[in-house]
Amino acid sequence: MVISTPTLWIHGKAVIGQGREIENIDPALDDVLNTYTTASATQIDQAVMAASDAQKKWAELPIAERANILYRTAALIDTHQEALALLEVKDTGKPIRDVVKDDLPSAAEALRYFAKASVTLSGQSNHTGSDHFFYTRPEPLGVCGAIGAWNYPLQIACWKAAPALITGNALLYKPAELTPTSAVVLGQLFQEAGLPANLYQVLLGDAQVGQALVDHSGITKLSLTGSVETGQRVAASAGQSLKKVSLELGGKSPMIVLPDCDLQQAVIGALWGNYYAQGEICSNGTRVFVHHSVLEAFITQLTTALKSIRIGLPQCLSTHMGSLISRTHRDRVLHAIQQAKNEGAECLFGGHIPAEFCDKGAFIEPTLFLCNTDSLQIVQTEVFGPVLCILPFTDEEEVITRANDSPYGLAAGIYTQNLMQAHRIAAQLQAGTCWINAYNVYPQGMPFGGYKKSGIGRENALTTLSEYTQNKSIYVAMKPMEHPFVC
Ligand code: NAD
Repeated sequence: MVISTPTLWIHGKAVIGQGREIENIDPALDDVLNTYTTASATQIDQAVMAASDAQKKWAELPIAERANILYRTAALIDTHQEALALLEVKDTGKPIRDVVKDDLPSAAEALRYFAKASVTLSGQSNHTGSDHFFYTRPEPLGVCGAIGAWNYPLQIACWKAAPALITGNALLYKPAELTPTSAVVLGQLFQEAGLPANLYQVLLGDAQVGQALVDHSGITKLSLTGSVETGQRVAASAGQSLKKVSLELGGKSPMIVLPDCDLQQAVIGALWGNYYAQGEICSNGTRVFVHHSVLEAFITQLTTALKSIRIGLPQCLSTHMGSLISRTHRDRVLHAIQQAKNEGAECLFGGHIPAEFCDKGAFIEPTLFLCNTDSLQIVQTEVFGPVLCILPFTDEEEVITRANDSPYGLAAGIYTQNLMQAHRIAAQLQAGTCWINAYNVYPQGMPFGGYKKSGIGRENALTTLSEYTQNKSIYVAMKPMEHPFVC
């Protein structure tokens, strides 16, 4: 597995893009890792045509053979873990310990999960009368397109490729322009595992290449992981051709800390849900509603925990928090922090570039705000960085109303020992996932996706199979039909 400069992965090989040049930068060191070229319109057309031919044969292959290829690819991810981790760290700036412990295993597990899930792919058969019966066939959609975000590059590619391929589709994947490398390596690994050419192709590029996939008449479905604004654009364009869309978008999720909870666990949940991976996680519980009676204790315990977070170079094994994805993104986060201060939020911790990283990378301190109103910009909009807002509350009804008062609906967390109350609140929260006494855990098979503007569709679960198939109903007559106009 060797890769110096990312290329397109089309026609079963590495191909240099004929579009525009993009500098791929290591965000922690500011090094230009390489300069790659995006896919041209002609290359996109050729890839779609080749995918269409390959898909027809692929769909005829027994599903167990398709599953075996996914299993073998997962094993290759495990085998090449060290090299893959270094590539991922250089593109993203994430700590290597996170990539090794979470990102790569969850990418491989997605392939294994959908290989196993293939046994559930079946139609229905109904014998509703003596003169007929009918059955249904879940059929592939054909050539699917998928577009990824930069925060979990390999995992997102696998979350999309696994369900698409197992159901008999071909996939054209466009990784985020800031993290192009691991998706291309995945193409090499798929090929080594026996995947025929043109079933998983990688088209590098920016929004323009993404838009070309959305608009392409040869693509039947589009799956996006990205921001709400991009999701809205993609859905509007896909509406023109009535393509199916799955959208995994942003969030501003609530975490509710009730008075009787295990406070230490709530603090641990707040750390997982705000500072792990530099806070660059869509489902983060960034609005932390804390009951007045435990507010002081929660703040004390959380600030103590924040002091022990080690910010450092991502390749270093002891680093807890690495670099944000880019200087541009860091500046956006800093702007949101400054605006929060201007609007009257009390900064209890952090809020700056760490002194030792003033001139290098895109680092930022873990930041904690106490907010006296939900109307602040920082409480309303996604920051996508290590910034947590504490919002004190008094009673259950109030906190449910405030938690739901958001255009987003990706996730939520509830900390309490009172299970009746936990389930009662979970049932009322407008969120695709609610964790009780935990945060940001995604076991295989637990559907993941958003309510409201956080998205359409679910990934990581059996239901995802239905998003990559369409049902054909086949009616079988067992008796001749009567003439319609017999007197
Ligand atoms: P982004 O929306 O800027 O870009 C996402 C992808 O869409 C990129 O590959 C980009 O090139 C492409 N793109 C941009 N404009 C496009 C267009 N008009 N047509 C087609 N493609 C287009 O998001 P980002 O900055 O890469 O990622 C951060 C966002 O992603 C955050 O909002 C985060 O919450 C969200 N996210 C959501 C999930 C989830 O599963 N719900 C997971 C990770 C990230």
